[in-house]
Amino acid sequence: MPALSELLQASARLHEGRPCPRQVPGVRMSLLAGTLLGLEVPQRDKRFLVIVETYGCAADGIAVGANCWVGRRTMRIVDLGKVAATYVDTHSGTAVRLHPHPVARERAAACAPEAPSRWHAQLLGYQRMPDEELLAWTWVELAIPLPVLLARAGGRVHCWRCGEEVLDQREVWIEGKPVCRSCAGEAYYWIREPGARADRPAALTQRA
Ligand SMILES: [Zn+2]
Ligand SMILES: [Zn+2]
Repeated sequence: MPALSELLQASARLHEGRPCPRQVPGVRMSLLAGTLLGLEVPQRDKRFLVIVETYGCAADGIAVGANCWVGRRTMRIVDLGKVAATYVDTHSGTAVRLHPHPVARERAAACAPEAPSRWHAQLLGYQRMPDEELLAWTWVELAIPLPVLLARAGGRVHCWRCGEEVLDQREVWIEGKPVCRSCAGEAYYWIREPGARADRPAALTQRA
């Protein structure tokens, strides 16, 4: 396993070239997940899937620590605004969810008394604290079946309403026809009518 400092440097390089406190628990969550699941981290293959509950600083640390990436289909973001991640061994389905201990921030200061600021105390303290002081973890069962999550079967249909392609069986079926989730009412955006005023909420229109 590469040293924590090496992984933090790699994470910082992705992260505008500088380390920051939240990357540290990210890297350490991935390292501990490897120990808990008995898998090598950073992984060399695609056995680990990590479901990350935030984006931003911690996600960079998590990605580097586990070698899991969105583009490799080994990382998924389910943005709940929480520094937390569930690591799944895709061979066995075993899953463990990790997050920083609720009082980790306060404990960090005690581990780095020489730090010139709270920010530095967190950056240093998070590197020095033992796992069980920095992190908390729970064994979990996935609520979504692993084959559905992984979408290994692939698949490609065209939405019957908007005509766009839907991959990985993410469509829903309405009256026997494939429909994308946006057209099925789960869109995160509204389509503006031509000429609609920018200061008014747009009406949802569908192209079908
Ligand atoms: Zn950051
Ligand atoms: Zn559609």
